Amino acid sequence: MLRIAIDGPGGAGKSTIAKLLAKELGIDYIDTGAMYRAAALKMTRLGIPAEDPEAVEEALATTLIDFDKGSIWLDGEEVNEAIRTPEMGGLASAYSALGCVRTKLGERQKEMGQTKDCIMDGRDIGTNVLPDADAEFKFYLTASAEERARRRYKELVEKGQDVNYEKILADINERDYNDMHRELNPLCKADDAIEVDTTAMTIDEVIAYLTGVIKGNAQ
Ligand code: C5P
Repeated sequence: MLRIAIDGPGGAGKSTIAKLLAKELGIDYIDTGAMYRAAALKMTRLGIPAEDPEAVEEALATTLIDFDKGSIWLDGEEVNEAIRTPEMGGLASAYSALGCVRTKLGERQKEMGQTKDCIMDGRDIGTNVLPDADAEFKFYLTASAEERARRRYKELVEKGQDVNYEKILADINERDYNDMHRELNPLCKADDAIEVDTTAMTIDEVIAYLTGVIKGNAQ
């Protein structure tokens, strides 16, 4: 089997890189962050805050979240657009710290990782979802917080949104802190992951490097 884990903080280019790499290698791409965002969307719609884990757990028991055919599905509804807001990113980070959320989504991700060749990206893929030798290749993508904020700013401006660079940078720093300091499956580099700092790299350069490692002609 070929399973590739890509972890790293928000805005490091994980999903763009993972999507392109999956296409090049002809395998599935699973965006685990989208699954956490979908859980946050459902709880927000129900008005259940992250401070009420019992209610979250009860609501999750009857919730279906899947990443399939390049789309994220919440109870059978495609929610690709609805989850892609900065607010939902922050909320996903809050709900994803809860044990009931991590167990439910982590189990589904582990199941997906056992059944097909895939690239999964997220925060705990190399350390928890596909630990040890479960993934043939593990990468940890980083970039400076300022560069990640610049990329996010550009992306949102191109979508026509009215955004503020300083606010984006502050949100990125806050989310990094929360994701790295939570008790359960915090964001960290797996011991056997290759770290790639993409601050000064183009997407093509990152893809070329990762492809080289996977095909065995770069280290
Ligand atoms: O990658 P993305 O920004 O879509 O992830 C949203 C949030 O979901 C992250 O900030 C993180 O808190 C959570 N997440 C996680 N574990 C993963 C993927 C995402 O906790 N494997």
